[in-house]
Amino acid sequence: MEYYEVAPNQIVRPGQDAFTYTCNQHLTTGHIVLVPVGKKELVGVVMRQVNKPPFATKPIIRLVNTIPVPTELIQLASWMSAYYGTPLAITLQTILPKGLIKNRRVQKAVPTIVRRDRTNIVFNEEQAAAIHMVSTSEVGTFLLQGITGSGKTEVYIELARRSIQSGSSVIILVPEIALTSQIIAEFSQHFPTILVVHSTMSESERHLTWQKALEATEPLVVIGARSALFTPIRNVGLIVIDECHEPSYKQEQSPRYSALRAASVLGKLHAARVVLGSATPLVTDRFVAEQSGRPMLKLTKPAREDTVKPTISLVDLTKRANFSGHRFLSKQLIAQLNATLQTGKQALIFHNRRGSASTTLCENCGWTAQCPRCFIPLTLHADQHTLRCHICNHQERVPTHCPSCQHADIIFKGFGTKLIENELRKLYPKANIARFDADNNDTETVNARYDELYNGTIDIAVGTQVIAKGLDLPHLRTVGVIQADSGLALPDFGSEERTFQLLSQVIGRVGRNNHDTQVIIQSYQPTHPSVTLGILQDYDSFYDYTIAKRRKAGFPPFVYLLKLTCIYTSESSAIKAAQELARLLRAEAHKDVTILGPTPAFYERQRDTYRWQLTLKSPKREYLSVALKIVPKTHWQSELDPTSLL
Ligand code: ADP
Ligand code: ZN
Ligand code: ZN
Repeated sequence: MEYYEVAPNQIVRPGQDAFTYTCNQHLTTGHIVLVPVGKKELVGVVMRQVNKPPFATKPIIRLVNTIPVPTELIQLASWMSAYYGTPLAITLQTILPKGLIKNRRVQKAVPTIVRRDRTNIVFNEEQAAAIHMVSTSEVGTFLLQGITGSGKTEVYIELARRSIQSGSSVIILVPEIALTSQIIAEFSQHFPTILVVHSTMSESERHLTWQKALEATEPLVVIGARSALFTPIRNVGLIVIDECHEPSYKQEQSPRYSALRAASVLGKLHAARVVLGSATPLVTDRFVAEQSGRPMLKLTKPAREDTVKPTISLVDLTKRANFSGHRFLSKQLIAQLNATLQTGKQALIFHNRRGSASTTLCENCGWTAQCPRCFIPLTLHADQHTLRCHICNHQERVPTHCPSCQHADIIFKGFGTKLIENELRKLYPKANIARFDADNNDTETVNARYDELYNGTIDIAVGTQVIAKGLDLPHLRTVGVIQADSGLALPDFGSEERTFQLLSQVIGRVGRNNHDTQVIIQSYQPTHPSVTLGILQDYDSFYDYTIAKRRKAGFPPFVYLLKLTCIYTSESSAIKAAQELARLLRAEAHKDVTILGPTPAFYERQRDTYRWQLTLKSPKREYLSVALKIVPKTHWQSELDPTSLL
């Protein structure tokens, strides 16, 4: 008989992650097994072999998988548990696929591959230097800061080629599904076997992919979103995180981990190279990279020598003379759209609000349509004749008269992508106009319509951030930004940074080839640093500006943050709980922990609940980890290193 500590992937008892079982078979760390827990049977992971304990033990029911999960992944799950103060059961759930013990019909997962003509390229000096640096420096994490179009993807491909050649697998993380078909197309020119992990894959497809990776005997290239980091491959030589500033690399639910930190840790465990690539790294990540003393890689020039910079015009939204032709499409933008469509080329219009109108109000009495559960304004979706809450998805019909004073003077203010799409259809009835945002169904997404975007079949693409990022469209000539400053209204320490990034990214969609291109940026705040530096794509100045501001105000990277939110169905309970915990923390936490609050959360009411918040700041992260242990397990949500305090 042998004895093993097994960690179930469900919480059994707070504070205890693993339990001892017997087995008459020899197992190793990472074996997935079925174990009895009380009356239940749970999936668990063998953590280690142990000596015969003094207490009675039950036998393992059966082995789920004959091939163990790589120990590096199990170590990663343990690290995530400790670093984010999350039970191991939860981090194991994160690294393992769902439905491990279900019987499945075998089904083939075939990635869609768009082949593209390819010319052989010669690396420029900066690309060659970056490749050389990553290949010859000590293994570890590298920040690759390269302007849009500087040829980062080619650098990733070359590094991947070298890794595969030396027999080690490669993991490429891309921010979201919108980008996968483009990057697969690029990688598939070079690598015959690519394993793709989508967020839209079914549970059984995911499981199949997972099994394939686990059984692989040859080095693999894996491409996917955040969770592709947990693909069970034994020998990883390279991990790339493309567009590493993207918010989707931070998981929104527990464990609220950063894929960048997790990749660095996994890289260390595999002795792999980790490359974090972006034109606009988060100031915190750039700061961390500088502090680490590791080489920084920079690509400052467009990869293609014949690249022509776009002509950028800034239109002041407060100067209404610019809008004599249309309420929110400036004369300048309309003129550019006319010219672009006349020559059969493509335009892209960016706006980061969904729906048709953001406010519905009564002109007679001032009543506004609000979500009955969240108390935020409902967004009009005119195509479906509904008002919808963008927090909880509550829906109601558009009122024909005011529910408060019965007048019929209902008006709509503010505009989203659906309204912009409609207005453009009126202006250009013959154009092929496509809208891309979170209201798309599966056949309408960037990924689904990527060929039409690439071939220029779509004349005007209107959309939210899904079209602002990463796309490389050969027919694109004009980019319009409807309101560059709209994200600045959110009272958050990261708002300016996100506004700057989005603007740099959307401008980066053009100026990638030898064609003349135009960018029209409309803004109510044309002198705001996020806008002016975003337009110049001047990352270094924006970094200096932000670092100075954060240092002064005490925000990351100068302090660590812990956001605590309590959720109750009554307001008084939420306030009371928040006050009690604040008192407790003020008494017990380290003196170098600053406790802000309690305050109502920014979205104070969500789905019939009340939310109150405490924000803890400390120059030492471990003081926050210790404080986290005091937080009650029920009613409280916690987040270490939040990227937003909203
Ligand atoms: P990034 O990912 O940095 O935005 P890409 O890798 O998409 O940039 O490269 C931009 C364009 O330049 C692509 O069309 C790519 O094929 C091309 N390119 C990259 N490196 C070179 C090079 N050394 N010579 C010529 N063209 C290149
Ligand atoms: Zn009214
Ligand atoms: Zn709601």
